[in-house]
Amino acid sequence: MNIWCVGRNYSEHARELGNALPEEPMIFLKAGSCQTFGPTVHLPSWTQEVHHELEIAFQFDEQLNFKNVTLALDLTERQRQAQSKAKGQPWTLAKSFTGACPMAEGKSLAALGGIAQVLDWEFSLEVNGQIRQKGRLNQMIYDLETLRIFVKSHFPVQPQDWLLTGTPAGVAALKNKDRLVARWGSFPVQNWQIQSL
Ligand code: ZN
Repeated sequence: MNIWCVGRNYSEHARELGNALPEEPMIFLKAGSCQTFGPTVHLPSWTQEVHHELEIAFQFDEQLNFKNVTLALDLTERQRQAQSKAKGQPWTLAKSFTGACPMAEGKSLAALGGIAQVLDWEFSLEVNGQIRQKGRLNQMIYDLETLRIFVKSHFPVQPQDWLLTGTPAGVAALKNKDRLVARWGSFPVQNWQIQSL
């Protein structure tokens, strides 16, 4: 299983990190084995500044259409990412470390009323009682169908793979014992607690 991720897909977030907007979808990978489930998020001991990036995640079906949807954290070691960017090196250490992709359980899109139904829902991340990030899929620079076509026509996408669609503004560092609540539409999707190792 592969985790395809979209970078800089919300203009406010690109701006907060001082990044130019991409001229085509900017895709990077997290290893499939970065995926974790459950209420505890373990941060590796070597990490210093792990940012939350709340994202809506879609899972591909056998025809490479989207079948399931959920919320995921694209955890990012921001210091390592900044160093990699400055040196023109890959982001793998910053984006694909052990445990870097906590996810909630997927829900069937059909059961939620289809993609058109979910486009306008607000998703949000609360950290210790404060809303830090919120957005809607219809604020994305590249829409869902453009992303799906781009990814499947350039990469060896397989059924069961996930696509993380980018994060809205408000990313910030996590610390030990932080309590997170991810919500989407009227659904409280996942609670997480941060555990530094
Ligand atoms: Zn991201």
